[in-house]
Amino acid sequence: MQTGKINVQTENIFPIIKKFLYSDHEIFLRELISNAVDATTKLKALSSMGDIKGELGDVRIEVLLDKKKKTLTIRDRGIGMTDAEVDKYINQIAFSSAEEFLEKFKGHSETDASQLIGHFGLGFYSSFMVADKVDIETLSWQDDAKAVKWSCDGSPDYTLTDSKKKKRGTDIVLHINKDNEEFLEESRVSGLLNKYCKFLPVEIVFGTEKKQEKIEGEKDDEGNDKYKEVETERIINDTKPAWTIKPTELKDEDYREFYRKLYPYNFEEPLFWIHLNVDYPFNLTGILYFPKVKERLEVQKDKIQLYCNQVFVTDSVEGIVPDFLTLLHGVIDSPDIPLNVSRSYLQSDPQVKKISGHIMKKVADKLEDMFKNQREEFDKKWDDIKVFIQYGMISENKFFERAEKFCLLKNTEGNTFTFEDYKEKVKDVQTDKEKQLVYLYTSDKVAQHSYVQAANDKGYDVLLMDGVLDNHFVNSLEQKFEKTRFVRVDSDVVDKLIPKEESVPSKLTDEQKEALKPVFTKSVDNASFTVVFENLSETDLPVLITQPEFMRRMKDMQALGGGGGMGFMGNMPDYYNLVINANHPVVFTLSEEKDEAHRDGMAKQLTDLALLSQNLLKGEALTGFIRRSVDLIA
Ligand code: ADP
Repeated sequence: MQTGKINVQTENIFPIIKKFLYSDHEIFLRELISNAVDATTKLKALSSMGDIKGELGDVRIEVLLDKKKKTLTIRDRGIGMTDAEVDKYINQIAFSSAEEFLEKFKGHSETDASQLIGHFGLGFYSSFMVADKVDIETLSWQDDAKAVKWSCDGSPDYTLTDSKKKKRGTDIVLHINKDNEEFLEESRVSGLLNKYCKFLPVEIVFGTEKKQEKIEGEKDDEGNDKYKEVETERIINDTKPAWTIKPTELKDEDYREFYRKLYPYNFEEPLFWIHLNVDYPFNLTGILYFPKVKERLEVQKDKIQLYCNQVFVTDSVEGIVPDFLTLLHGVIDSPDIPLNVSRSYLQSDPQVKKISGHIMKKVADKLEDMFKNQREEFDKKWDDIKVFIQYGMISENKFFERAEKFCLLKNTEGNTFTFEDYKEKVKDVQTDKEKQLVYLYTSDKVAQHSYVQAANDKGYDVLLMDGVLDNHFVNSLEQKFEKTRFVRVDSDVVDKLIPKEESVPSKLTDEQKEALKPVFTKSVDNASFTVVFENLSETDLPVLITQPEFMRRMKDMQALGGGGGMGFMGNMPDYYNLVINANHPVVFTLSEEKDEAHRDGMAKQLTDLALLSQNLLKGEALTGFIRRSVDLIA
């Protein structure tokens, strides 16, 4: 028997492992199984190169629980280790990296530390987060190898003795400590395997499962096949997940099936997908699915999963891909993403930037391709991908430049247009006297119906902008497009939405307007309303309500928490214009009326009608209006 002191000059590594890895201690299983997979993959490589003669036999990895002995064992039939290798890989190498780790750790936060530790090849030692004692029993593949057993109880002392192990490979036996007995529970371990190991390339056996097996040659009375229940070993992983297979070998149904495997609790089908496959200048595979993006940008449940050689690493890819891409679902697998480092490091890593740039390009390629070659399909899916595309265009300039060609605008009639087509469609009619192109839009076709109608009557087209991001989107389009304004249909009277040269004369004199103004101000009796006169036509309504574009946008922005330092304004009130049609006969009559009480009553009635049409007349005011109307009829 050999005994020794694990060689750490600076400090004892164990307290550090226990302290800093604690927040994420479940990763020990991923680390140990990854080592087992590596050992098995190396064995297969040796065999295929002819270094190992004969059959390899069963090379599955087993995870075993023994509740009585309080052990969790990870068993592989990989290359194993000789005593010299145990000494080299477990006793020496790990601890020289431990020192390097300690060096680097100075000046990092604790979370950074736990991400760093894997980076320095301390994977195996993460087992001491959950175990009092760890045994390694291993037999190397080499012909004259002797099995050895290494034991360590979490102090710098270890023992190395002979072992009776007969089969090639390695058993890592964890004597689970008191605080971590959860890892002796089948359900807990099963959950972890499902999270980290679901797509590992070597079969992993954990426990058993019951299956129905056909009994050959036996039928029941009705002539149906007979089945019996059999208990078989449970394989927890899919060793050849779709993203590792060549796209040419996959059918649409295979992609859909893989999606269901990734997100078993999501019953919606993806709209379409992209199979990523890059090997230069970095390695990247994966499948990205486009889900229907919900109207509200909910906290994402089915997130993109990041893998490193089929080992699950994380499903928080923020900082690795641009924000809007996190709306997508699927898998990215890359050994080239430095995984065990902090997020701030990731964000500035040039390799990561290249990768995320590439993904963005592929996504734009796919959308453009669909737009060009399957326009009808693209139009049909537009409502479901609109939020995604707008989000990308608002947040990433590069994406805007691509999407500009295939982003669609939809009008109130349900027709879709590219930016270019739309401009062509409206430019002759919807240009104002300043030569600015005016895009009219509605955020609510039903509530703003009368305004849409008025605009349509004038020969104007109205865009439907009722999505969650449309507010923002309108702002960014105004910044990108030259000489273009977006104006909501209810922000002014139709003649003023797109001001032209000609001006309509007014029936009311300035004095008459002056005299009427306080009458209407009193009738609305609300500081959020400003009374203005407009020379509309006789057939327009006598009194209208509009909501000025600028103030409304400020308020919308504030509601979204933005507004560029508008917080000091407190809660902004809604801001309206009470527009009096200076050419309407009723208004004219009103201005001639000598009986003050009667005049005020008429003004009140007209104002209330305008408020009512905008659903702004409520409660007591509404009751009063109805009473007055009944009296008028009587
Ligand atoms: P890393 O895997 O990052 O190199 P580890 O601390 O997890 O760091 O493992 C150190 C080394 O120990 C491995 O590189 C490998 O050579 C050896 N090793 C660990 N587990 C096994 C195993 N199951 N079979 C064979 N060798 C192993």
